[in-house]
Amino acid sequence: MRSTSSTTSASAALFADACAVIPGGVNSPVRAFSSVGGTPRFITSASGYWLTDADDNKYVDLVCSWGPMILGHAHPAVVEAVQRVAAEGLSFGAPTPSETELATEIIGRVAPVDRIRLVNSGTEATMSAIRLARGYTGRAKIVKFSGCYHGHSDALLADAGSGVATLGLPSSPGVTGAAAADTIVLPYNNIAAIEDIFAQFGDEIAGVITEASPGNMGTVPPLPGYNAALRRVTSSHGALLISDEVMTGFRVSRSGWYGIDPVDADLFTFGKVMSGGLPAAAFGGRVEVMERLAPLGPVYQAGTLSGNPVAMAAGLATLRAADDAVYAALDANADRLDGLLSGALTEAGVAHRVQRAGNMLSVFFTDEPVIDFAAARASETWRFPAFFHGLLEAGIYPPPSAFEAWFVSSVLDDDAFDRIAAALPSAARAAAEATPPA
Ligand SMILES: *Cc1c(COP(=O)(O)O)cnc(C)c1O
Repeated sequence: MRSTSSTTSASAALFADACAVIPGGVNSPVRAFSSVGGTPRFITSASGYWLTDADDNKYVDLVCSWGPMILGHAHPAVVEAVQRVAAEGLSFGAPTPSETELATEIIGRVAPVDRIRLVNSGTEATMSAIRLARGYTGRAKIVKFSGCYHGHSDALLADAGSGVATLGLPSSPGVTGAAAADTIVLPYNNIAAIEDIFAQFGDEIAGVITEASPGNMGTVPPLPGYNAALRRVTSSHGALLISDEVMTGFRVSRSGWYGIDPVDADLFTFGKVMSGGLPAAAFGGRVEVMERLAPLGPVYQAGTLSGNPVAMAAGLATLRAADDAVYAALDANADRLDGLLSGALTEAGVAHRVQRAGNMLSVFFTDEPVIDFAAARASETWRFPAFFHGLLEAGIYPPPSAFEAWFVSSVLDDDAFDRIAAALPSAARAAAEATPPA
């Protein structure tokens, strides 16, 4: 048992209750703290940058619901919009005006997107984009990159995971070889690998899906020119490029990663920030591709709750509140967190790199730049649990996995950074003193 300075008995009891009715006690695996150990904190409320748990412990939130809460929690404009719209009815199964407003807001921010289809999760967005790419090109194969996560649809869970181009090895039981057979997994940031696979299978590949800047193996940004190379290779073989901006979209700039690295993909996927913490997501792109979707075209895609008015209200209120000052604050807060993390880990004498993609960041315990999943896994990830718990017990809530991005909100203030700065030295020492598993 780890010693804790705060009590966690209420969370522990709630976790036991949850485990009796929900597999592993959670509805998304990372929440179970499996890779860091300890009791997952059951959160009862949140406001600004504070999370409050069932034991009344308070934490400075550096996860932000895995990205969406750029404005901090319970932002007054978002809460007001949700309450106002909810009072007018929750779901109609018919078109509503706010769907057009949110689609228009997204189209106005990401130039290559002419049309938007709204869905309920990032998983649905990428799954539908893949179906559309296959329907549009009449081809079967899809290329994805090891370490990139695009939700949990069968075709996209396929991941050889070895950093070697491999055809169709399912990485989860329940994903059949058939579902994964047309998925080719390549190492990330390797232009030769993509050129080789297109040389071999170019006229069979419907599309390449990539995280615009990966955050699901930790923060591993594309090397300069990498996304442009994906564009060049896909274009020259008549394949579509799908830029998955579910994490980066409207977080790293008002136009997402596209605002930083403007590569014109054929299709984009969005989620997280665009729905302000409620379940909604989207995919969009060029008009001639998007108009292959039903009801205009033959590629079927649907959703009972798609374009839900309450989710639209939260998304619109979030995007409209996210002005230049918010993005400047997000960037400044990420710089400040980066500086504190680097300072404390350097002081503790532990090899580390704080990798950045705009205002997203991750800590890797290694001397080497991490450019792909193999490098991420080769880092000293066994130092992470000690670092994590050092921070958590001091009232800072980092992501509970070494392979996740850290997310700042725009509302972090001097008090928040003072708390982070106070917590870091002992957490960094704990990371330095950690020993590899036997
Ligand atoms: C979170 C995420 C998804 C999946 O979104 P869900 O809403 O969890 O289904 C897809 N792609 C990327 C890049 C993500 O970060």
